[in-house]
Amino acid sequence: MTEQKKLYLELYDQLAALQIKHNVCNIYCDSQGFHCGKNRFCCTDCDHLTESGCRIRSLYCKIWFCPECIVTTEYRSYITEAINVIAKIKEHNIPIPCREEIQ
Ligand code: SF4
Ligand code: SF4
Repeated sequence: MTEQKKLYLELYDQLAALQIKHNVCNIYCDSQGFHCGKNRFCCTDCDHLTESGCRIRSLYCKIWFCPECIVTTEYRSYITEAINVIAKIKEHNIPIPCREEIQ
């Protein structure tokens, strides 16, 4: 594994932990599948969604949030802490592929 890939995964884990800490999307699972706190769960049509979550650990999806989500206090709390992690993505020129590209 390259140093850049290791750093990618570290930054992904940090953002994922912050997303859970601040409950940004209120994601939950029931007998009907995954849901979030909004009308439409943005992972719904994605081929990378598995029963155990995101198969590809998409860093892009830890930076993009829907317009309904970004007006919440939970999102503001998240981004206040996440901004330092996001700055490292730029500092180290970590490529952020879209969900179709990353493997
Ligand atoms: S790639 Fe993004 S949209 Fe697809 S399952 Fe992972 S987090 Fe969800
Ligand atoms: S970004 Fe919006 S649609 Fe996607 S999981 Fe979060 S609250 Fe739901």
